[in-house]
Amino acid sequence: MTGYGTVIVGGAVMGSSLAYWLSENPDHDGTVLVVEMDPTFERSSTTLSEASVRHQFSEPVNIRLSMFATEFIAGFHENVQVDGESPELGFRDTGYLFLSTDDGMDVLRENHEAQRSCGAEVALLSAGDLAERFPYLYVDDLAGASLGLRNEGTLDAYSLMRGFQQRARHNGVEYVTDRVVGLRCSDTGDRVTHVELASGAVVACDRVVNCTGPRARWMADLVDLPLPVEPRIRGAWVFACRTPLEGPTLPLTIDTTGMHVRTEPPHYLAGMPPIDDIAVDVDDFAVRHDEWEGQIWPALVHRIPTFERIGVTHSWVGHYAYNTLDHNGVVGAAEAVPNFYFCNGFSGHGLQQSAGVGRALNELITYGEYRTIDLSQMGHDRIVRGEPFLEKAII
Ligand SMILES: Cc1cc2nc3c(=O)[nH]c(=O)nc-3n(C[C@H](O)[C@H](O)[C@H](O)COP(=O)(O)OP(=O)(O)OC[C@H]3O[C@@H](n4cnc5c(N)ncnc54)[C@H](O)[C@@H]3O)c2cc1C
Repeated sequence: MTGYGTVIVGGAVMGSSLAYWLSENPDHDGTVLVVEMDPTFERSSTTLSEASVRHQFSEPVNIRLSMFATEFIAGFHENVQVDGESPELGFRDTGYLFLSTDDGMDVLRENHEAQRSCGAEVALLSAGDLAERFPYLYVDDLAGASLGLRNEGTLDAYSLMRGFQQRARHNGVEYVTDRVVGLRCSDTGDRVTHVELASGAVVACDRVVNCTGPRARWMADLVDLPLPVEPRIRGAWVFACRTPLEGPTLPLTIDTTGMHVRTEPPHYLAGMPPIDDIAVDVDDFAVRHDEWEGQIWPALVHRIPTFERIGVTHSWVGHYAYNTLDHNGVVGAAEAVPNFYFCNGFSGHGLQQSAGVGRALNELITYGEYRTIDLSQMGHDRIVRGEPFLEKAII
């Protein structure tokens, strides 16, 4: 290894999407190295994700990014195939269903308008509509809901990541298994010149991109840049139900308590943000079983009484790279160190944003501007100014 145009630190879904887009762009002529410390990806957010796509956000930029995910998924085989082969994404179009009490209806209506204006196929339902359409739901304490009618659902996260990787490698991107342990800067401190690896190698680069997921803040610290991103635990529980729900497929349903549940054929899957939602150690992957007993199962049975008789088949936890300022991604170059790029803080929606963010960041690197979806609102300058770009539809 000598020198590279772009060194991407972290080779999971974000890092590999960027590598893919740079290597597909005929106007980009630099070399690309991806440094990934764990080629099994067993602890990356990507492989521990619930891997769902929704168009129901409050901010148009997030809606557009997810709508692009739909487009990318539809052309996935063509986009990433190598010698006619591509991983199987297994997308299931089940929809998302956001439930609401009276208090939340105004926000739901505002979000609905934003989604419709971006072309999303969504519908507002009254409590009566809900009862008729999804007879297994308890609706007496609800005022209504927002339902995704098309192109929202679940896919295989590992396959999405593998697709980006296989095509990027085929296009000439190099991957190395190593850990970035330091950055060297110019004497003036405003330019990263080298990346230091745990193996002892030192790699010269024109630019470096931080795609380290929940560890992102540590990398920003290396160049003294603020980044309000921390690892927060999120659990997923898969359960079997003795009596299958009668009626249409259960969409990915977000309850007013924050609990969410969806199908995971042949079973179901549920989760909920912990009540005590704080930063955790990056190596803490212990399942919080008390959350299931104390929070999730009671909320589940309240909303879907059939789920009184269920058995958990397995569970896991992963980490959100949680942006404490506004839940949104931080994307783009740092003003103070213009060849240090952020691609961080995607909280619970980075998987579906990976295709659109990778494409946009490739434009910023190659042309110095966004040409498809403008991600300026996600820029690091807002972090420096402390001005949130708030996403309201958060899971
Ligand atoms: C339980 C759960 C459910 C989720 N559900 C959804 C969902 O339904 N839809 C959705 O869109 N998103 C969801 N997300 C969020 C989504 O998974 C993430 O936003 C996305 O995967 C982030 O990808 P990433 O590549 O930025 O980070 P990661 O996948 O965490 O990858 C970062 C990589 O960087 C590597 N790395 C870190 N430090 C170094 C270093 N110093 N040197 C070299 N390599 C390094 C790591 O090994 C890792 O592979 C969920 C997340 C969790 C945890």
